[in-house]
Amino acid sequence: MHNNSHLELDSNAFKTNINFLRHHFKKNVLISSVVKGNAYGHSIENFVEIALAENVNHFSVFDSHEARRVKSVVQDKATIMIMGWLENEKDLKWIIENNIEFYVFEKQRLISAVATAKKIGKKAIVHIEIETGMNRTGFNNSELKWVQNFLKKNTEYLVFKGLCTHLAGAESIANFVRIKKQIEVYNSIYDKFCKLNLKPIQKHAACSAGAMMYPETQMDMVRIGIMQYGFWPSAEVLVNYYNTKKKNSDPLRRIISWKSEVMSVKKVKRGEFVGYGTSFMADDNMKIALVPVGYAHGYSRSLSNVGRVLINGERCVVIGTINMNMMMVEVTVLPHVKRGDEIVLIGNQEDKTLSVSSFSDYSNLLNYELLTRISPDIPRIILK
Ligand SMILES: *Cc1c(COP(=O)(O)O)cnc(C)c1O
Repeated sequence: MHNNSHLELDSNAFKTNINFLRHHFKKNVLISSVVKGNAYGHSIENFVEIALAENVNHFSVFDSHEARRVKSVVQDKATIMIMGWLENEKDLKWIIENNIEFYVFEKQRLISAVATAKKIGKKAIVHIEIETGMNRTGFNNSELKWVQNFLKKNTEYLVFKGLCTHLAGAESIANFVRIKKQIEVYNSIYDKFCKLNLKPIQKHAACSAGAMMYPETQMDMVRIGIMQYGFWPSAEVLVNYYNTKKKNSDPLRRIISWKSEVMSVKKVKRGEFVGYGTSFMADDNMKIALVPVGYAHGYSRSLSNVGRVLINGERCVVIGTINMNMMMVEVTVLPHVKRGDEIVLIGNQEDKTLSVSSFSDYSNLLNYELLTRISPDIPRIILK
């Protein structure tokens, strides 16, 4: 456990976000809470507990290890869906026994699912993922006939729960044509399944950006990750929301805050280099503070010389390269700064806010990356 910093999770912020999303989406659209990547850095166990308290009853994960972690918290109170990796033979038994739902995007997984279902005498609950243009996972057109026949032949062992796909970059309007095409392809494949009397229980395609930018992709279920944590998939999605809804305040609130304290303070003379190598030279006499957080804790090295933290209510800039366990920030303008003062890496202090995106404006994708890099060993505190 790293106790040189801690994370606070604000359960009221989650309540605000989930209420906004429920209200915004069409009626009867189920929200699946996406908690892969350690719940985008928030910690699966803590976040799922917060979500359950707001009656979230569907969680999506990447692999069976994450599914087990969610299961340990929800027990039988929610549905769990694996969207990615599983080890066919080893994991399937546990998955099927526990009613965990899972994506299938290759023949072998479907064959193994049926074999395991036969063996344990319980149906496997599958979501057939189809290729519509992302070119990542999903059955190709040429495989669909095989899939359809296989589903027909094995109704005794399979529940055809979902027909799904994933959109390739719905957060950027530059991808408009590609996404529209994906939606068309999805619908035409869906029709073909229906004509063969293979009607899935759920249709789903949307992540946060898809659900916001292309409401027709909400279908029966939306898989919401980033927005439930209080972040927008991109500035374009937020602006689109403002423009279409004639709103101009952000309805989402960040759940996570990351706090530490000043480890020591020292003075540096003009012309001296700070830290390893020569990436930062003091252009004047200055005061610097040491922060006991580095890349080993998940504070990305790419924030060297650009990251910001809040100390004594002021924004302070990271100087030099981020070290494994420490970084330096300039605090020349703070007359009273001393060891033990609170440092906010993400969150609020006095009237100032530091969002994750405030140090990743140049790339919204960094939001996702920076959050998921936060070390799972940092203690989390749930604020009720
Ligand atoms: C991560 C993921 C999502 C959630 O994406 P957000 O942009 O965080 O809402 C949805 N579907 C799939 C398949 C994913 O991998």
